[in-house]
Amino acid sequence: MQDWSLKVTHLIDHAAREHATREHVTRWADGSETRADWASIRLDALKMVQALRDMGIEKGDRIATLAMNHSRHLVTWYGAVGAGGVLHTINPRLFEDQLEYIVNHADDRVLIYDAAFQPIVDKMREQWPNVEKFICFDNDADTVSFEQWLAPYDGQTDWADVDERDPCMLCYTSGTTGNPKGVLYEHRSTMLHAMAGLQPGSFGFETQTVMLPIVPMFHAASWGLPWAGAAAGVKFVYSTVNEPDVLCELMDREGVTDSAGVPTVWLGIFQYCDKIGRELPKLKKVIIGGSACPRFMIERLMKNDTYVAHAWGMTETSPIGTVGSRTSDWEKLSFDEKVDVVAKQGRPIFGVELRTVDLDNMATPLPRDGKTAGALQIRGPWIIKRYFKAEQDAADADGWFDTGDVGIIHPDGTLQLTDRTKDVIKSGGEWISSVELENQAVGHPAVAEAAAIGMPHPKWDERPVLFVVRKEGQDCSADDLTAYLSDKVAKWWLPDAIEFVDDIPHTATGKISKKDLRTRFAGYRLA
Ligand code: ADP
Repeated sequence: MQDWSLKVTHLIDHAAREHATREHVTRWADGSETRADWASIRLDALKMVQALRDMGIEKGDRIATLAMNHSRHLVTWYGAVGAGGVLHTINPRLFEDQLEYIVNHADDRVLIYDAAFQPIVDKMREQWPNVEKFICFDNDADTVSFEQWLAPYDGQTDWADVDERDPCMLCYTSGTTGNPKGVLYEHRSTMLHAMAGLQPGSFGFETQTVMLPIVPMFHAASWGLPWAGAAAGVKFVYSTVNEPDVLCELMDREGVTDSAGVPTVWLGIFQYCDKIGRELPKLKKVIIGGSACPRFMIERLMKNDTYVAHAWGMTETSPIGTVGSRTSDWEKLSFDEKVDVVAKQGRPIFGVELRTVDLDNMATPLPRDGKTAGALQIRGPWIIKRYFKAEQDAADADGWFDTGDVGIIHPDGTLQLTDRTKDVIKSGGEWISSVELENQAVGHPAVAEAAAIGMPHPKWDERPVLFVVRKEGQDCSADDLTAYLSDKVAKWWLPDAIEFVDDIPHTATGKISKKDLRTRFAGYRLA
């Protein structure tokens, strides 16, 4: 057979050749809109290759972006890798010390950013001595704009000659402990991941797909959507703001069929639709991941004829590990049984393997019995081997990478995530899932957000305490909530205390930060 190396530029070549006029719609923060297509994205990416070469960018050099989702940002994905460089997408919500650390650790030479993040750039510039060039995506900024930068070029060039094992992208984890860690993806791993993402049991893209990605391009490689989307020639609709009214209007008007994002995005859309008394947008499928998708959310979306593909993964896994897909007996299941299936995190897509091991003795693999919870491990061609610039492998000699998650594997291969290793609550030698308590609690109509943490207990080692933010204008007492939970979780799982708080701290990726919550309640004692 022929030698066709797995370079990501094949994706954009294919999209521009076979789906040339399939559109990319961007709705900008000021309300204006621009339209591009796969052919113009490729041409601009080739112009960017010429511009990067002119400034002396060499194979492996890092090119960073600090930007929301839009078509120009997509151009930089293909332009950076097409020049043989490594695209480094930076999360603008990171804290200042993390931003300083990662740009220097990555040794970024170019930074392309949205005007909305000019204050970050102004503040950090001095701390990023290695960045030679700053370019702004927006046209009316004081610095050179992306369009001005590309204007002198015609795109008549070739992609850089790279090996499929060369790196193409760098993403940092938000680092809940210590400094953020870099995950360096290769052309080959990215291509295999993109092709796997097209499987019907995975994201299942096709030419009719109109995708509005809410997961930001700076988070966990945007779940690989910009790569897999090119292979299928999907139409992309982007918004640089995540306001529910803007998203709903775009979904209706542009015929959006699919979306992808963390659960909180849908909370906002539900609240907005309820407030103005409109129906939810009629999507065919939403991919929800990043944190557990609560049951009430699945029910509401499914009642709207929207299929929920509940996915699990992490930056270290490119990021797709598992995706929820219909079971073989799907048609025979009742609505509630279907919701039970979707509430779990789905099955591994072809290419990756999962296993659980004993939390106290990691050498012992656990049965796939649908009952026993253990430390979740994964291996495969798009799973991390070693963090960027680290001295030791992150995976063991057999390739198993310990995810830091706790889960149960069911006999049919379905993963049910129960917790993070750090967050699981150990009570009297048994494990209580903090995630399960939280998911059940947010099903109460008065609860906006909930976080369960284990607090030291003289007899039981730890007992759960639930911190709850009430919805605006809603009332609910600790007794009400305990009564509500009592038929949903085991009796010994019921929290020893429920504390109502004004807010719960979040990480830079919008997840509940239990670390900060623990610090905030460091002196807390159970009576
Ligand atoms: P960060 O650590 O920067 O927030 P990641 O996206 O890499 O970024 O986080 C991965 C973690 O998110 C997983 O290890 C897991 O704990 C959690 N997670 C991802 N998807 C799900 C899901 N469907 N259900 C529950 N937790 C999830």
